[in-house]
Amino acid sequence: MGNPKAFLTIHRKEAGYRPIHDRIHDFGEVEQTLNSNDRRQQASRCMDCGVPFCHWACPLGNKAPEWNDALYKGDWELAYRLLNSTNDFPEFTGRICPALCEKACVLNLVEHEPTTNREDECAITEHAFQEDYVRVEQPERNGKKVCVIGAGPAGLVAANRLNHMGYSVTVMEKNESAGGLLRYGIPNFKLNKAVIDRRIALLEEEGIVFKYNSPVDVEHLPEGFDAYVVSTGTPTARDLKIPGRELKGVHFALEMLSQQNRVLAGMEFKKEELVNAKGKDVLVIGGGDTGSDCIGTAHRQGCKSVTQIEIMPRPVDGPDDPKNPWPNWPRTLKTTSSHEEGCTRRWNINSL
Ligand code: SF4
Repeated sequence: MGNPKAFLTIHRKEAGYRPIHDRIHDFGEVEQTLNSNDRRQQASRCMDCGVPFCHWACPLGNKAPEWNDALYKGDWELAYRLLNSTNDFPEFTGRICPALCEKACVLNLVEHEPTTNREDECAITEHAFQEDYVRVEQPERNGKKVCVIGAGPAGLVAANRLNHMGYSVTVMEKNESAGGLLRYGIPNFKLNKAVIDRRIALLEEEGIVFKYNSPVDVEHLPEGFDAYVVSTGTPTARDLKIPGRELKGVHFALEMLSQQNRVLAGMEFKKEELVNAKGKDVLVIGGGDTGSDCIGTAHRQGCKSVTQIEIMPRPVDGPDDPKNPWPNWPRTLKTTSSHEEGCTRRWNINSL
């Protein structure tokens, strides 16, 4: 712990988003970055707690105190090694993780100014790629072959770890590119797809073979492998059997989101196939992150208005819900960058 009193004198500082007027007409990433000095100052706020609740909350067990300390001291390479020791692809989580660690951070308990772990993570990883700390590794092969079915986040992590253990890995992917929901669900304004391409190129250099447009029938698995990893995700949407569901202009979220990402990747669609909100009054059913992604996408497509309805009551304002206190994930009102861009939000509405 480089500066034991930093949390007393340095306030939390987020990089924030590009101004709305600047971002709303393009699909570039909305989040900005701090300069290196400010980033290191933010890392210095970590108290290296005896009982680090950030560990408790992080599903990956990220070593935030250790890599924040390395970042504060300017050892970006060590920070990346520590980060990468528990997190295969920190460039993805650094952009889109909800940062459970920050909500559980001890600094969130009193002043509601937790460390900026997610942004620190992203900065460490981008620095690592720029400075070539992310090196290609060529593990010794053990003679066994594994087929990973599905190139979404789970499949990519499984492929990466098995490859590093010496297995020869082939990834079968039904789509034309890798990434799963990272590529076909998360909008580009939250995760630029070049970030995925960069990682896939690295995995290929390390020996992983990707086969695209290759759906697999799990009843007839491809032959020639010693083991299989089924990581196909949950691609079937939950339908709503309500009057009007069959009408023109009613779509699943992923029809809109995946098509928009494909359009941005250069794919062409017939006019009658396009799901586009231009000039429309849009209703989003569902108040979660996917609904929020649809709001941001509708704005960028040029919609007239967006309303979002949610089955649950409006959560409480502010950082804490007294009924669900720290270090639990706070069930409080979340306002995303897409909400900020304009949206009417309504609660307690059941669409059944
Ligand atoms: S809980 Fe917060 S301050 Fe404590 S070690 Fe974790 S990130 Fe640092």
